[in-house]
Amino acid sequence: MTLLEKVWNAHTVRKLPNGQTQLFVGLHLVHEVTSPQAFDMLRARGWKVRFPGRTIATVDHIVPTRDQRRPFLDVMAEDMLAALERNCRAAGVPLLDLQSGSQGIVHVIGPELGLTQPGMTIACGDSHTSTHGAFGAVAFGIGTSQVRDVLASQCLALDPLKVRRIEVSGTLGSGVYAKDIILEIIRRLGVNGGAGYAYEYAGDTIERLTMDERMTICNMSIEGGARVGYVNPDQTTFDYLRGRRFAPEGDAFDAAVTWWRSMASDADARYDDTVRIDARGIRPTVTWGINPGQSVYVDERLPRPSDMEPATRASLAEALEFMGFQGGDPIKGTRIDVAFVGSCTNARLSDLREAARVVRGHHVAAHVKALVVPGSQGVRAAAEREGLDRVFTDAGFDWRNAGCSMCLAMNQDRLEGREVCASSSNRNFKGRQGSPIGRTLLMSPAMVAAAAIAGEVVDVREMTGGN
Ligand code: SF4
Repeated sequence: MTLLEKVWNAHTVRKLPNGQTQLFVGLHLVHEVTSPQAFDMLRARGWKVRFPGRTIATVDHIVPTRDQRRPFLDVMAEDMLAALERNCRAAGVPLLDLQSGSQGIVHVIGPELGLTQPGMTIACGDSHTSTHGAFGAVAFGIGTSQVRDVLASQCLALDPLKVRRIEVSGTLGSGVYAKDIILEIIRRLGVNGGAGYAYEYAGDTIERLTMDERMTICNMSIEGGARVGYVNPDQTTFDYLRGRRFAPEGDAFDAAVTWWRSMASDADARYDDTVRIDARGIRPTVTWGINPGQSVYVDERLPRPSDMEPATRASLAEALEFMGFQGGDPIKGTRIDVAFVGSCTNARLSDLREAARVVRGHHVAAHVKALVVPGSQGVRAAAEREGLDRVFTDAGFDWRNAGCSMCLAMNQDRLEGREVCASSSNRNFKGRQGSPIGRTLLMSPAMVAAAAIAGEVVDVREMTGGN
């Protein structure tokens, strides 16, 4: 069996008459944006949170990353956090708030605190919950009415999923990161290619990745249309979890490892589809369009609608027009206005280290506004212990407090007008970063750092001498 089948079977409460499965949810992660209405719906029916001990909350989307004094200047943000505080208090749900030292983007803190573990089912009212699959968990992003369902019953009703194994093999070139792997996968398979599938990432390239890198890949599964994405748990996973706050300890940890190992896909597991990708050919990648599948290598030119299949010509032309690009343009040399290192895709300590490595000894271009937003208070503190904050601030970056920041711009961090942003986040949809006409170029944190310094899209390999 695959890991998906094993986890699914272990958590099945019953088969529903409509063909769905009622699945028990091991861990429910809650944040301030998708939970207020769900708690209201519960209250309206007189229901209680069924398993407060399997529920944990934090605040991430709306938090200001500069001035976090309460009440927040943004009245709506203040109301949302106040509602979360009231709801958590009333329901007995632990809240990792701004005073906790453990607050952060929900998909950063779950793994960081050892809440996310192999073989689990996890749900959260945010699309990028697939991140937790890096640990061999099956993790679903859900909507507000499903948040209500999980609060009330700790269960979800889900359609069955097929499994596509994506085998990535070969050594990555210098300056090529996990972000480039997942952008390559999405470019090849399409933004809807994963519809109805769980993506199992495997192969020697994936096996060599750190947990941070595996999280970057699983995080963007949803951008490829997959419902969930996961990596089978292995020694890298167990080493990461040992000693974390919510991970089992002592003999219980060893017992857990035995069970976690058993949940990995069997060597003779059957897959609905298998895709093989040679990592040696992947180069630093940049999106040029309005979905994460519209990308090119940094040394490539943008596609021309006339070269494309008739079915894709219209969407290509729409993307080029919105972005103000012409087919055949090089992406390299595109002037940027904003550089954003942050988000649940790429704001972990290793991401900040790689960005700092590029930045060290340089200065942000005069016309660029650059900011680094750590994924959690834990990441921020660890980065400061290493002096990374000084590297960034000396170079002219803003060093901010943890939160989603400019990934979704539900706070003061937003693009203005037609600004172009080099961003380490995960979505380049129209309006995603706060301005309806703002433009987002997705890339790795190292590439964002390089663009910040140069003031335009550059090949990070040329800035670091290929190291
Ligand atoms: S960083 Fe972006 S994608 Fe991640 S949880 Fe926040 S808003 Fe969602």
